[in-house]
Amino acid sequence: MDDITGALQKYFGFEAFLDHQKQVVEKVLEGQDVCVVMPTGAGKSLCYQLPALMRSGYTLVVSPLIALMYDQVTALLNRGIAAAFINSSVTFSEQLLAAEGAAKGEVKLLYVAPERLQTDFFRRFLTENPPDMLVVDEAHCISEWGHDFRPSYRRIGEAAKDAGIRQVCAFTATATPVVCRDIRTQLGRENMSLLVAGFRRPNLAFQVIECDGGKDAKLARLKNILKDKKPTLIYAATRQAVDELAKIPGVTGYHAGMSMDVRNAAQEYFMNDPAPVLAATNAFGMGIDRPDVRRVIHYQISGSVEAYYQEAGRAGRDGESAECILLFSFADRYIHKFLIEMNNPPPELVRAVYRELYYRAQQMAEPGEMEVTAAQLAENIAGAKSDGEISAALGILEKFGFIRRSAKKSGNGVLRFTGDHERLKILHQQEKTQRSRFIHRVIGHFGAAVSKEFECSLDELSGIAGLSVEQTRRVISALNGDCLEWRAGFSGRAVELTDHTVMEPEFDDRELRRHLDYEIFRLDEMINYARSNRCRQVELIEYFGENSDSWQCGCCDRCVKSAGSSAAVALRQEDSRIALRTADLLNGRVGMGKLGQILCGSRSASIVAGNWHRSPGFGALRHLKSAAVEELLRQLLDAGLLEKVDRNGYACIKLSGAGRRKLLGSSEF
Ligand code: ADP
Repeated sequence: MDDITGALQKYFGFEAFLDHQKQVVEKVLEGQDVCVVMPTGAGKSLCYQLPALMRSGYTLVVSPLIALMYDQVTALLNRGIAAAFINSSVTFSEQLLAAEGAAKGEVKLLYVAPERLQTDFFRRFLTENPPDMLVVDEAHCISEWGHDFRPSYRRIGEAAKDAGIRQVCAFTATATPVVCRDIRTQLGRENMSLLVAGFRRPNLAFQVIECDGGKDAKLARLKNILKDKKPTLIYAATRQAVDELAKIPGVTGYHAGMSMDVRNAAQEYFMNDPAPVLAATNAFGMGIDRPDVRRVIHYQISGSVEAYYQEAGRAGRDGESAECILLFSFADRYIHKFLIEMNNPPPELVRAVYRELYYRAQQMAEPGEMEVTAAQLAENIAGAKSDGEISAALGILEKFGFIRRSAKKSGNGVLRFTGDHERLKILHQQEKTQRSRFIHRVIGHFGAAVSKEFECSLDELSGIAGLSVEQTRRVISALNGDCLEWRAGFSGRAVELTDHTVMEPEFDDRELRRHLDYEIFRLDEMINYARSNRCRQVELIEYFGENSDSWQCGCCDRCVKSAGSSAAVALRQEDSRIALRTADLLNGRVGMGKLGQILCGSRSASIVAGNWHRSPGFGALRHLKSAAVEELLRQLLDAGLLEKVDRNGYACIKLSGAGRRKLLGSSEF
């Protein structure tokens, strides 16, 4: 056993490395800067944890989320490995203890959030006690082309340089070659080598079905596929499409616009039913891990190949065969183009949103958080196409650092019953409808207080009325202005200007433009996938930068088709050989017609009369129709492998010289 495998067993108790792990560990131990892209679950963390344990100093790991750090450190501590984290959840004295432990080489793995690298204290500590290696976990966060860009990740490279850290490695599960290049550039490590591995999923059979006949044809196609019942996830691009799919008998819907109760019920169903069929937007999937999903169908293309592979990859996690079917129509590109444009509003709109916020901030007695919804902002901004566009503009302003947004809030609303409440209560005591149930129970609960405005939440009302939140919302909106008045509370994220003196945000318009272009480019890569003639998985893994090394999945529609046609060629070659050999054995005694009949095994009168049914090759091609045999003979004749000879005035057929060479020589036809 070599040292590395010995260390693996000693520290982790694992018998052997998972695919590709050893290769990475070796590179890391050699002191190389590497950027490793391997899918979730491939065992990336061990690739830097093991080298960390085999070295004398400590390894610094930058991780984006407190929860992630917590999980990693807890798992290490449980294995008896000295690890610690420094973040806002730990007291200052605990932070000092962790840092000191690392400096002495007692703590082998020290996890920090990227912001920590900017503090004077920590920078000084790093310069005085540089780690053996800096590891950037979830490294795609460095790149603005990645889906989870974090500005604080941008400054890791500079901090590593200032502290003179010798080795920097980056790890991520999702990075296209563009993102990888950006990771290298942003870290300032131009020599960083790239290793992409583990994206092959040989148990998944990818298939693309062209659906050009419009929506009805596509639906019919889907229904047909669903006749075969198995655990199935159907992804659609919009909530509206999910709602439509959920009308198909046996299909349940899931999207973020549904109430929590409905979503929870859908999730339960998906996890527990033996063969659930769930139609969902991309809001479904994170953290939901049913291993035996046998089929993922995309009713529409995803917005990018990354998204597609992630969603389709939820099939067959148990390693058993599963299907990933894309119902492709080019027209669906427009849905995504629309969504992309909404998420990338023009610079003028971003500026207009800021101006509106600035104006509102001026109206406030004291600077602070503003509880304003996208819809309210949209009312005052000319040219705003949708609330979604305003939300995206807010996201951009936040990314550029002009505003801060709070976590999502869902506040109380204000309710008042307008009629005589006692009368209303009696009138609805039968509780025959959802409305009367709501009226009777809510008045019963609050009594006379309902005649004056009072604060309460939808959740509370739904509990009192015994209705779901969604039903409660509908009932209230139907009754609003009739027997009650309701003002919904603020629900969303409060906004605050970062610097109240900034009247006009300054940013480079080209940056927004580049982002838009990039998203359209990624969308078109998705179209290219659908239209590609190559093995589907090769197309996918190469997209992520993994080398296919002439591997093919063997089970996608492209592989099966070409296997089908090469099987046909092979069969045809065998049939040709049989025909030539028979012609040779009959040695020019029969014509084309009779040779065909003999090969087909015909028992016509002339065959039996001439005793041809006892001749060699009789019935050797009976698996073919007579027309096919005639066609084959004609082709062999045209190719010069058979030739006509005259026998007593009859045109007979015999093997030609070329035919003989073919038969004796190469088996290729
Ligand atoms: P990733 O970060 O790539 O998503 P993890 O590092 O979380 O993957 O590892 C996934 C799981 O595989 C973990 O439970 C880990 O303990 C386990 N694992 C890692 N390496 C090995 C190995 N060599 N043998 C067995 N299990 C391993």
